[in-house]
Amino acid sequence: MAKKPGRIFKIQLWDCPNCGNKGMNALFYKECTQCGQVLSDDFLGDLNYNEQVFLAEGDPLYELAMYGPDWLCSCGRRNSGRYSSCECGAERETSEKGRGRVDKNGKTTGGIIDWYQDDSQLKAGTVKKKPGPDIRKILVPMIVIALILGLIGLFRFISETKIDVELTVTGHRWERAIDWERFELVKGEAWEDEVPEGARITSKSREIFGYKKVQTGTEIVYRQETRKVEDGYDLVEKTRQVIAGYETKYRQERQGNGVIEDVPYQEAVYKTESYTEKLPRYKEITESIPYEEPVYRDDPIYKYKNHYELETWVKMETLKAAQENRSPLWPKTDFTAPQGAPIIGDTRIMAKTESYQVLLTDGNNKEYLWNCPQNQWEGFEPGSQHQAQKNLAGHLVSIEDQSPSDSR
Ligand SMILES: [Zn+2]
Ligand SMILES: [Zn+2]
Repeated sequence: MAKKPGRIFKIQLWDCPNCGNKGMNALFYKECTQCGQVLSDDFLGDLNYNEQVFLAEGDPLYELAMYGPDWLCSCGRRNSGRYSSCECGAERETSEKGRGRVDKNGKTTGGIIDWYQDDSQLKAGTVKKKPGPDIRKILVPMIVIALILGLIGLFRFISETKIDVELTVTGHRWERAIDWERFELVKGEAWEDEVPEGARITSKSREIFGYKKVQTGTEIVYRQETRKVEDGYDLVEKTRQVIAGYETKYRQERQGNGVIEDVPYQEAVYKTESYTEKLPRYKEITESIPYEEPVYRDDPIYKYKNHYELETWVKMETLKAAQENRSPLWPKTDFTAPQGAPIIGDTRIMAKTESYQVLLTDGNNKEYLWNCPQNQWEGFEPGSQHQAQKNLAGHLVSIEDQSPSDSR
């Protein structure tokens, strides 16, 4: 009777790439039996690159397969896991450290050389890179501050940078204005509590000031409401997938020693099942819902509107005078100053304003204006030359009121 194996192993067979010797047992022969070529990891990594020989429990090679992956000696030899020392005399414990172990995919891993050569630990996430600070959180405010400082600097540069210019006086300009009021009889109308002080009421009339809402009762009104209600059901035929049973499948796993294990696992087998589902049917119904709503009436509010007369000072249109010459004048007035209490027709001056400008040109016929007090303004002789400074925006910031020729 055939004994049922606990584990299913298949031996990989390899062909020597050096001398062409074919079909060697990779579990037993780690070197070519003809030329001594060492079995390479590349071969054991390739699942398809072999013919498979079944290995049953009880077979001496089965026990050999159970020792696990081969190990590589620093002398270059490949050794079965069964041996704790190499043919060269080196102990596995010390020699293997430099070369590593062969894993299930036929790759050499774990040796000091490998550890330094790749960054698989970094990729696997066992060694974490220290996260850097979020650069945007720092950069954005810095850019905003730099822009603001830059604008302030530019503004100061334009307004504070001074350029020397030599200017010639070409003219004078003046402007004078008088704000004044006249005592007048003003007629108006206002609600009883808004009449200005001192006004004389000429007539009054009762008028509607506004309305207020007064609730007189309630009325019943109806609101339409639509809702869904169940109205029978439909029978619907449907299908679904259900598990019918399990099937044993095999996954091939390399042992790293010239053996492939067929590892059994269970996989569900599905079948299609049909069933009937009750789906409710709906219809919409509309109902009238009664509710109470307040009813209002608008009641007028009456107040007295007063027509009045008031004797008061009224602001008049500003009188202005402006010319381009050296003889400033005030606008002509024939005001009658009030003697004691004002009477209708009296006038009075509230404020006087005046401004004086000197017109100048530079060597390129560019025109400038200089605002100054009247006494300085009068000192600028037509045709005289003056040293001045302007800013980058082109405005005069200072001027010498004495022409160099006058200072002699
Ligand atoms: Zn060979
Ligand atoms: Zn060795």
